[in-house]
Amino acid sequence: MSRVGLDRIAAAAERIAGHVRRTPLDPSPSLSRSCGVPVLLKRESRQTTGSFKLRGATNAVLSLGSEARARGLVTASTGNHGRALAHAAKAAGVRAVVCMSALVPANKVEAVRALGAEIRIVGRSQDDAQDEVDRLVRQEGLAEIPPFDHPDVIAGQGTVGLEIAEDCPQAELVLVPLSGGGLAAGVAAAIKGKLTQARVIGVSMERGAAMAASLLAGRPVSVEELETFADSLGGGIGLANRYTFAGCRDLLDGTVLLTEDEIAAGIRHAHAQDGEVLEGAGAVGIAALLARKVPLSGPVVVLLSGSNIDPVRHRALVGGDATTAAGAW
Ligand SMILES: *Cc1c(COP(=O)(O)O)cnc(C)c1O
Repeated sequence: MSRVGLDRIAAAAERIAGHVRRTPLDPSPSLSRSCGVPVLLKRESRQTTGSFKLRGATNAVLSLGSEARARGLVTASTGNHGRALAHAAKAAGVRAVVCMSALVPANKVEAVRALGAEIRIVGRSQDDAQDEVDRLVRQEGLAEIPPFDHPDVIAGQGTVGLEIAEDCPQAELVLVPLSGGGLAAGVAAAIKGKLTQARVIGVSMERGAAMAASLLAGRPVSVEELETFADSLGGGIGLANRYTFAGCRDLLDGTVLLTEDEIAAGIRHAHAQDGEVLEGAGAVGIAALLARKVPLSGPVVVLLSGSNIDPVRHRALVGGDATTAAGAW
């Protein structure tokens, strides 16, 4: 199992050009001032579908063979990966099926349907939805494109790193949101391949950071999944993880964990100072800087990974009403 390297990421960049946005890298005057080194924001929050996930999904869809394309693809994700995959499949003229449980809220179901995907409502849990995915793969030959642990997905996410290296070759530190590790493994491979001086640090929440716990244990482990502002960073890395655990173990220079208050402060800062609406997962890099949790050397590039936050929750957060924002936990 060879690791995803620069060649594969460069091929992905060529394949997805014209299908995804090349997002801006802008200086943040407020963060540069408060950190004492230049800080730049990679605004992947402005990617089509609201997150970088479109890069990996598009690369995976365009890499399918003609038979797989003819049958179509399937996923159980109702989050940013599900959105991205539905969009990429529609753009490529490929059938996409998204399996979800009856407990998924109607607005989320409609959002995926609006992107042109077929919806299958099955059972009452994420596991039931995944069982239906497994059945469609087995019985109807649909291709499952997983959210992170797949070389084409990792290579697609790595194209964010290539753009950072091109736009800021002096970067000394890159902060990357970390969950399953597709983004971090891809970006670290691109950055380390292009910029010998740069460190890459993964940032997660304290509440349920599966990759950080796995790196500490030296093997994939599962952690309890908890509610968090950084909901796109929730979920496990898979005990049978094949690619992203090794990629993160070998390429990341460290990980940082954040409290919920710190993540909320990141969302607020992005809105007030940097003109950016971010979901919790997208704001963890800013939050890590504000919390003084990373040893600084500049220039620092902060990857803003996504913008898909419930507008009511965002308003409550930036209006300062953290109790409403946090709901029950
Ligand atoms: C999926 C996601 C992440 C984490 O990506 P992984 O490849 O799972 O580590 C970070 N931010 C946002 C907005 C995401 O949707």
